[in-house]
Amino acid sequence: MSTSFQNIKGTFDILPDPHTDDGGTRTAASAEWRHVEATVRDVMRRHNFEEIRTPVLEPTELVARGVGASTDIVQKEMFAFERSDTQYVLRPEITAPVVRSFLQHHLDQRGGVQKLFYIGPCFRAEQPQKGRYRQFHQFGIEVLGADQPRADAETIAVLMAVCDALGLSDLRLRLNTLGTPECREEYVGALQDFLEPYADELSETSRRRLERNPLRILDTKKAHEQEILRDAPTLIDFVNEKSRTHYDTVKGLLDDLGVEYVEDPHLVRGLDYYTETTFELEHPGLGAQSALAGGGRYDRLAEVLGSDAPVPAVGFAAGMERLFLALDAADVELADTPTPDVFIAALGEEAERWGFRTAQALRAEGLHVAHDLMGRSLKAQMKEANRQNAPYTMIIGGNELEAEAATVKEMESGAQEEVPFDGLIEYLTRTAETA
Ligand code: AMP
Repeated sequence: MSTSFQNIKGTFDILPDPHTDDGGTRTAASAEWRHVEATVRDVMRRHNFEEIRTPVLEPTELVARGVGASTDIVQKEMFAFERSDTQYVLRPEITAPVVRSFLQHHLDQRGGVQKLFYIGPCFRAEQPQKGRYRQFHQFGIEVLGADQPRADAETIAVLMAVCDALGLSDLRLRLNTLGTPECREEYVGALQDFLEPYADELSETSRRRLERNPLRILDTKKAHEQEILRDAPTLIDFVNEKSRTHYDTVKGLLDDLGVEYVEDPHLVRGLDYYTETTFELEHPGLGAQSALAGGGRYDRLAEVLGSDAPVPAVGFAAGMERLFLALDAADVELADTPTPDVFIAALGEEAERWGFRTAQALRAEGLHVAHDLMGRSLKAQMKEANRQNAPYTMIIGGNELEAEAATVKEMESGAQEEVPFDGLIEYLTRTAETA
């Protein structure tokens, strides 16, 4: 069988079995996705986070303001379109949508701090490559209404707890403080003054950034630029006393929790609404796309989105595909595809009808029951039961119907037992529990 249709480049199907995408990357099976999602949910429950789900479609203006009009995402990577005078965008991230929803629904009125988490697809028109897709999935949290350093430390702790629960180690957490936008502005001036004399030695991209967004030069991967930056002024020297105390407290709390981090004075974010703590989590198994997650404080975002009062907030966003890459590189085994508790193999029309009724009755008891829907021979049905890794097969034919007892075969040993119809549910529930 075949079709000329293919999934869109930079997207992928999640299938019952793992498979390899057109870029040669292993794509996890749906059971593995469920396992990771269930782990995320469990960690969130333990940390007292509540789920929020927002639409995939958002107003383009929300993303332009929330992500920043000068960013690559807004300039080059939005899947945006117009319909009946409304500008839509497929969300490229989920922080701005969550803050929109928080403000729109006055979630602050629920009282206290809102600790929200999300899991869902995001869209960016980037050049697809390993770990970089056009439709990818993020999970993340937003802690809204909390200005205490404990909120920053807890945000990081939640991220580390998810990795820990999945069995992922070897992580590198980079940490920095951005202080306030006002300190940062002063710093940007100092950085520009420092870099100006080196302008001729900088790449064209960095020269452009020197004018518009010099902080991004700090991200450079070019060795000679990193060399120049070695003596550049550092942001921490421009950060005010209050921000420094905040940062020191966050670090102290992480030390208390035994969370390891490296301070990276070059870890910055260009947009004005980012404040104080910023962090990025990396895994060596990811290669070029080393970032597993990123986050930090964004105390000024709510106002950028129109709030008349500030909402101190901190959060992170992690990439699910990157998580799978890291888990794969670390040889962490995830959940197997679920297999049936029992396969019902029926021969003859009457037995098929009995089998169908019985399958439904067993399913109502919570058992995972498979059966044949192709009218195949007994031999072919037994083969199918094996392929599906069912530990037991229940065989029904004319003799069994007459005796009102099914033949239950334990597939591994080949041992068979006659089980009366009225004892089947009890028998199979017991064997499924001990399996
Ligand atoms: P960002 O919103 O850019 O800080 O991204 C947060 C996280 O999402 C990153 O650390 C990645 O793990 C993941 N991510 C971002 N863009 C992509 C993409 N195009 N494909 C896959 N994962 C991505």
